[in-house]
Amino acid sequence: MKPVDLTRSEPLLDGGDPWADVRDGVRKLCARFPGPYWRALDRDRTYPEEFVAALTEAGYLACLIPEQYGGAGLPVSAAVAVLEEIHRSGGNGAACHAQMYMMGALLRHGSEAQKQRYLPDVASGKLRLQAFGVTEPNAGSDTLGLQTRADRDGDAYVINGQKIWTSRAEHSDLMLLLARTESAETVAKRTDGLSLFLVDMAEALQSGLSIRPIRTMLNHATTEVFFKDLRVPDTARIGEEGKGFRYILDGMNAERILVAAECIGDARFFVDRAVAYAGERVVFDRPIGQNQGVQFPIARAYAETEAANLMVQKAALRFDSGLPCGPESNMAKLLAADASWHAAESCLQTHGGFGFAEEYDIERKFRETRLYQVAPVSTNLILGYIGQHVLGLPRSY
Ligand SMILES: Cc1cc2nc3c(=O)[nH]c(=O)nc-3n(C[C@H](O)[C@H](O)[C@H](O)COP(=O)(O)OP(=O)(O)OC[C@H]3O[C@@H](n4cnc5c(N)ncnc54)[C@H](O)[C@@H]3O)c2cc1C
Repeated sequence: MKPVDLTRSEPLLDGGDPWADVRDGVRKLCARFPGPYWRALDRDRTYPEEFVAALTEAGYLACLIPEQYGGAGLPVSAAVAVLEEIHRSGGNGAACHAQMYMMGALLRHGSEAQKQRYLPDVASGKLRLQAFGVTEPNAGSDTLGLQTRADRDGDAYVINGQKIWTSRAEHSDLMLLLARTESAETVAKRTDGLSLFLVDMAEALQSGLSIRPIRTMLNHATTEVFFKDLRVPDTARIGEEGKGFRYILDGMNAERILVAAECIGDARFFVDRAVAYAGERVVFDRPIGQNQGVQFPIARAYAETEAANLMVQKAALRFDSGLPCGPESNMAKLLAADASWHAAESCLQTHGGFGFAEEYDIERKFRETRLYQVAPVSTNLILGYIGQHVLGLPRSY
């Protein structure tokens, strides 16, 4: 029997992969940014400016923006292909993926004037929409417990508070910010009272916004941001006051599908590398991959990856067809994050001591893929969602 060609992406169904050209283009682009490029950035914790510029220039970052605003107008399943290929090549799309799903809030809920003003510049790369300010130190996963306030003052809002883990804040021109415009005690529904703002970062940095980088175990350009009497015009608000949480929820399915695609890419990277190494490394006069103790964890990781990918594709298909996809998007993120983590573990183990050497890129990807057990939503929170919303079990959080 012919072995499975691991260099090829598996189409979901007979009839081929509709995004084969996209995948091919992204692969070629990524080949210009090999392991040593990412390794050097990782060592110095620097942002992949050249890679993001190349992706922007090639139009991939704007693939979801409708053509009328200068993008390619492709569905989420195309963005899945883009991010999966970046990760499979050994790169990391987290440096720039937020733009893909954040612009959805602007697209779906912004005014026509806001869309005209920002989307064409985001599509061309003139404006970077990369910072997403939701998580707060005192609220964590409980987004509705956030405390950053935006208080009305004439035709402006005055913002005070703090966000944490606001990734790419130093590399973005705009921040999508969720803040409280009505106290949690007076709102009719717990999900009311939060509003969404598009903050001009350059202006804000002159008048009340400060950014402090957080060094983490991976190269992620993440920060904490502080707001002190920052005034933003009411034209910066997206949609209606008090409805921001709903607008954010709308985008979360896309976010989960796209992050799941990155996990699938990571998992395939690890399986590719593990198979190659297990086949060539000879110990006790035979390739280590001949030992079931080495071979089976890789085979299991491959099987888990393929299964998780089916859920990612299903979620994307439902999203693109306008069907409800909360359960599928959450399950895709859960299963893909587990598949990539298990693949990472088997790949590192397969490499023995060399898995720890920087030059193999395994330890770097291992650190990078661990994040997805926690962010953008932790595994437990997804299990709680499935328990409550899919299975009808009592609310656990
Ligand atoms: C590198 C990085 C980048 C990030 N980028 C961004 C960003 O750009 N923008 C942004 O807004 N946020 C960002 N985040 C934040 C991320 O979304 C949160 O870290 C994540 O949602 C978890 O929140 P937390 O860290 O406060 O953990 P907590 O909410 O404090 O949870 C801690 C642990 O307890 C568990 N837990 C909590 N409550 C329950 C419960 N009821 N049942 C079971 N288990 C529970 C969680 O699963 C988790 O394992 C980023 C985080 C990291 C680490």
